[in-house]
Amino acid sequence: MENNRRDFLKKSALLGLAGLATNLMSEEKLNALDNLAGETKDGGKFTLPALPYAYDALEPFIDAQTMQIHHDKHHQAYVDKLNKALEAYNGDQTWSGLFSQASKLDVAIRNNGGGHYNHSLFWQLMKANPKGDANLPNGKLGDQIIADFNTFDIFKKEFSEKSLKIFGSGWCWLIEQNGKLKITTTPNQDNPLMDCAADKGHPILALDVWEHAYYLKYQNKRADYITAWWNVLNWQQAENQYLAK
Ligand code: MN
Repeated sequence: MENNRRDFLKKSALLGLAGLATNLMSEEKLNALDNLAGETKDGGKFTLPALPYAYDALEPFIDAQTMQIHHDKHHQAYVDKLNKALEAYNGDQTWSGLFSQASKLDVAIRNNGGGHYNHSLFWQLMKANPKGDANLPNGKLGDQIIADFNTFDIFKKEFSEKSLKIFGSGWCWLIEQNGKLKITTTPNQDNPLMDCAADKGHPILALDVWEHAYYLKYQNKRADYITAWWNVLNWQQAENQYLAK
């Protein structure tokens, strides 16, 4: 009896500490965003990061022309408009500084800041895989996906369905929220780091479902684009993003 009680107290203490550690870790991750995607500046201005591969690297799943226009025109426009919108802004221009008060900022800063950060992350999270053979997560992220979703197929199905159901333009995300993985969506160029996000958390995967991401190759068939995207997902980078603090 006494032993049971002692065990119970010991377990409770351990669980309490584990919970505290998880919360601290999430805070740390949210505060470390300045070291993540798209933070590079030149003379105080945000700059467009180079694609980490050639325009045609993601063929046949995502075509070269889409990649070129998406990166060189759409992403460049977010960077230019963000810099323009920030000319009159004297506050904290780090990602955490901007996103933590996104709902109170000029909508041009919110939209183009999100646009720049989201795309910077999106490029990094893809890689060439021309044969489209098995492309599955491993490491700690893979383990956590199984722990939180039961099987990879269940996770993939939920992510694909939520991406497909976004009305109009937006993004689908895998985030870490209080130590658990969760799939969530945002409209426009919002992201889960913004104070206005319905589900806030640390982004691990990002899928752009704006029509400009797929219309040239897939026209109105968003489902086909989502199916294709799984082939070019960069799980090593997703693991880095999961472990980033
Ligand atoms: Mn886009």
